[in-house]
Amino acid sequence: MPESSFDTKVVHHKLDQQQVPNSKSTPIYQTSAFTFKDLDHLESYYEGDSPYLYTRERNPNTDELSGTVAQLEEAPAGVATSSGMSAILAGILSVAKPGDHIIAAEDLYGGTHKLITKELSTFGIDVTMVSFAELEEVKEAVQENTRLLYTESISNPFLRVEDLAGLVKLAKEKGLKTMVDNTFATPYLLQPYTSGIDLVVHSGTKYIGGHSDVTCGVLVGDQMLVQEATSKVVTLGANLSPFEAWLTQRGAKTLGLRMKQQSSNAEQVAKAVKKHAGVRTVYYPEYVSDRGHGAIVTIELDEKVNVETFFQSLGWIKIAPTLAGVETTISYPVRTSHRALSEKEKENIGINDYVIRLSIGIEDSEDIINQLTQAIEA
Ligand code: PLP
Repeated sequence: MPESSFDTKVVHHKLDQQQVPNSKSTPIYQTSAFTFKDLDHLESYYEGDSPYLYTRERNPNTDELSGTVAQLEEAPAGVATSSGMSAILAGILSVAKPGDHIIAAEDLYGGTHKLITKELSTFGIDVTMVSFAELEEVKEAVQENTRLLYTESISNPFLRVEDLAGLVKLAKEKGLKTMVDNTFATPYLLQPYTSGIDLVVHSGTKYIGGHSDVTCGVLVGDQMLVQEATSKVVTLGANLSPFEAWLTQRGAKTLGLRMKQQSSNAEQVAKAVKKHAGVRTVYYPEYVSDRGHGAIVTIELDEKVNVETFFQSLGWIKIAPTLAGVETTISYPVRTSHRALSEKEKENIGINDYVIRLSIGIEDSEDIINQLTQAIEA
């Protein structure tokens, strides 16, 4: 081999990964592509014997994450994406084609609501939004070209727990596919695929990552549908970066511990604020699973509480347009997640100036309650 100069050596020297196969944690494969030692090796990729060619198509870190979430949801396949939104889009497009119709719950996360009402028509997909609280209404909305029923296992922000068994029964009767956003429940509390739901989507930005430091999505479910969705993710360039996949995977290791603590704290917060005269209504599910009721508590403040002062008096509870981190945060749906909805749409689902969504963290529950109570009374 000819002697190389500095400029050649500096770009070609790298660790031989075969020599460190016993690294305890998975390395970050921060690479846009994979190299091949000869043309036979390259050919082996196309023959299916070598998995990686180009990161937009597939990468070990994104595979690790999608595999982890698929396993937690007890689903056969998964794909990791750049955000919850892109996972939702890829999932819907794996089922609905131009000329098809889908039915979606009217009380979805604001971003999903916007995607469904404003963007799907550009793909030639027709949409009807109805209340999924009454499955009869869903049944009545079914048309000849309906392909998919879309909802959230726990709705945002009013925490309505979906009747998954009823939905699956209806979908089977009508020959439809079902897709559920399981972000709020996480597979720690609910595993919709095991109830017969075809596709389960997560904003991995939330509990799966758990530390508010990544934006990511994961779609799991039926093998054929996930394969179709993966092809959309690759073509639309909606793949997740290796580093964000690695961070999310690292966060996911403590999902069970975090959900246990956060759910237990949320239950205590819900009980405490229910008794407070400054709180008109507390939305907290009566039952989600034997493991807990989830870590989100939505409250409607009484009109005598000054909302501006309340927000100014929250101390270490920060206002954040997200949820699911280890710190307790608070969000104001009317000004953030549901801002894009029309006045009529907000009124229909009950969003008003007094509705506040709390994402309960892992802190001491008494501290959270004291901090909140003091802000309500401020
Ligand atoms: N689904 C739910 C329930 C959400 O709350 C969100 C974001 O808040 C999303 C989906 C969208 O996820 P992302 O922000 O990761 O795109």
